[in-house]
Amino acid sequence: EVRVRFAPSPTGNLHVGGARTALFNYLFARSKGGKFVLRIEDTDLDRSTKKSEEAMLNELSWLGLNWDEGPSVGGDYGPYRQSERNSLYKEYAEKLLESGVVYRCFCSNEELEQMKERAKQMQLPPVYMGKWSTASDEEMQQELAKGTPYTYRFRVPKEGNLKITDLIRGEVSWSLDTLGDFVIMRSNGQPVYNFCVTVDDATMRISHVIRAEEHLPNTLRQTLIYKALGFPMPSFAHVSLILAPDRSKLSKRHGATSIGQFREMGYLPQAMVNYLALLGWGDGTENEFFTIDQLVEKFSISRVNKSGAIFDSTKLRWLNGQHLRAIPSKELYKIFGDRWKCSGILLESDGTFVEDATELLKDGIDLVTEADTALSNLLSYPLYSTLSSEEGKPIVEDRLSEIAASLISAYDSGNLHSALEEGHTGWKKWVKDFGNLLKRKGKSLFMPLRVLLTGKLHGPDMGGSILMIYKAGILGVVNPESG
Ligand code: GLU
Repeated sequence: EVRVRFAPSPTGNLHVGGARTALFNYLFARSKGGKFVLRIEDTDLDRSTKKSEEAMLNELSWLGLNWDEGPSVGGDYGPYRQSERNSLYKEYAEKLLESGVVYRCFCSNEELEQMKERAKQMQLPPVYMGKWSTASDEEMQQELAKGTPYTYRFRVPKEGNLKITDLIRGEVSWSLDTLGDFVIMRSNGQPVYNFCVTVDDATMRISHVIRAEEHLPNTLRQTLIYKALGFPMPSFAHVSLILAPDRSKLSKRHGATSIGQFREMGYLPQAMVNYLALLGWGDGTENEFFTIDQLVEKFSISRVNKSGAIFDSTKLRWLNGQHLRAIPSKELYKIFGDRWKCSGILLESDGTFVEDATELLKDGIDLVTEADTALSNLLSYPLYSTLSSEEGKPIVEDRLSEIAASLISAYDSGNLHSALEEGHTGWKKWVKDFGNLLKRKGKSLFMPLRVLLTGKLHGPDMGGSILMIYKAGILGVVNPESG
């Protein structure tokens, strides 16, 4: 049975890197009909907070990465927080002690420091070579009787190699002579991170460990622990780093990196999921737009790239626009309408005005949060600044007054009004006649007309814009207080 896990440490926000790891696990589980487990790695009690845990769960749910087992849903292999699994770690540490793979080490910190110093002077790797790996039973009993604090140390074979086959990186091997016997439980009884992870993955019956590349070195210790405990080994897949455009490690100084920030900026969860999947994966075609169901269908670990993936926020934004426009019209009207009402631009959140405005504006925006500016821009009339701008000057010089005069008479005669009453067809006919009258067409007709009617040089489709402005004026849907 395929069982994978996402194991965040609740010491901050869910970042794009973590979210992508979660997503790859989720996609792998769903595509194999397996289980997606969520485990909270809160052994670092000083840095772990409940608030961070809650935020992470929230963001995962927002992305739609629902877990089958874990906090708030339970499961047969719980508890799912490391802080609640101490007795289990203890139990396995004792087993290893009994079997002799682990021994008690009574070295004080000072002694350990001295050993390191000595190794350095002799230009040897700073590995533990203390006496407790070979101490006699008597020596040990003496220290126990004295109450000397001790750690549990794992006996590492002194030579040879350890090899794993990583599903993404291929064969990875380590030589054992530089590892040294390592601690699995501190003298205060606190188990050490690598030990917890191994006991958890083993007892939670994890079949595939898919995680960030930075954990690859941990795999060495973890594999030794697996073997010593006699558990079957999982498969490993280490996913490459996410890089900034300058190929340095992605960090805060490159802009937004946490899922919560993107959420607040107006990104859609389906676009985030789609983009995260593209960070190191592709289906082998040019296609980049995927729904989560399509990703489940197409995802495979063998297509995950082993080189670092560049985080491109422009592309994310573009993809968000694609997903925004893929939302069924009715839902989109509601999203835009609610925003416009909440932000005070419109009095009503539904009706044909909202529908028309949504249709007109949606092509020009990538984020829902841009809908507000788009509508208020459309409905404002900055004629003076437009005409006095560099780009406006040629239009003024282009006999604007003649066009304005004709426009005003069309306005006064009610002929523009009745055309707009008929909607798009009326507008099309009117503008054609107006062009014939002035002997203008194309840009020399549309630019001055756009400027005179909307006050702006650029904007969405002109007919659509003018109809919206017209309707806003006569229907009283626009909030007179706003703008
Ligand atoms: N808790 C680790 C982290 O947040 C993940 C460990 C693992 O996946 O093995 O980076």
